[in-house]
Amino acid sequence: MRIIIMGPPGVGKGTEAVVLVKQYHIPHISTGDIFRELYKDRTTVGKIAKEYISRGELVPDDITNEIVRHRLNHQDVKNGFLFDGFPRNTLQADALDELLKSHETEVSAMIALEVDDEVLVQRLLKRGETSGRPDDANESVVRNRIKIYYKQTAILKNYYFDASKYYGVNGVGSVEDITERLKAVINNL
Ligand code: ADP
Repeated sequence: MRIIIMGPPGVGKGTEAVVLVKQYHIPHISTGDIFRELYKDRTTVGKIAKEYISRGELVPDDITNEIVRHRLNHQDVKNGFLFDGFPRNTLQADALDELLKSHETEVSAMIALEVDDEVLVQRLLKRGETSGRPDDANESVVRNRIKIYYKQTAILKNYYFDASKYYGVNGVGSVEDITERLKAVINNL
């Protein structure tokens, strides 16, 4: 089961991803979490990534793709994975296809959580009060992340739709309700 969970910042994909990976026993690969680890550990890559993250911009593709390439060499991805926050543009999606091809496998499904923009801004600003994330506290950074999502990431819908791998799920509701909707899709794959 090789799944990508997609949705705009603040939609709750990280929360859902954590629940799903426990139930399906697959690793959760969040490029955002990997970058946050790298900057917490004060690595050079982490420092570079943090500059982009703090502005609400995407970390350059060469850095991001290399991190994913490295992650996919781990043994724990043999039975599948759940990607959260990757791919975020068509170049990353192409890179992922190539990487998986080299491992003689492919993406099973991309599942997108859908919600209204204003709900997202409010959720992210609220999260910023407690998360300590540098990109959640400031409204213009939050809006920039949402703008980039619609400009670069949302078009991946067509990318996976054309490959008959796209599934849209309503992202409004309780965590449990949304988990059930996601599981209904996954169990039918
Ligand atoms: P959110 O979905 O709330 O934006 P993430 O943890 O997925 O949270 O991402 C936080 C930030 O990390 C992004 O705004 C971006 O700067 C960086 N990032 C994460 N994943 C990627 C990626 N695939 N490509 C480029 N930048 C990324």
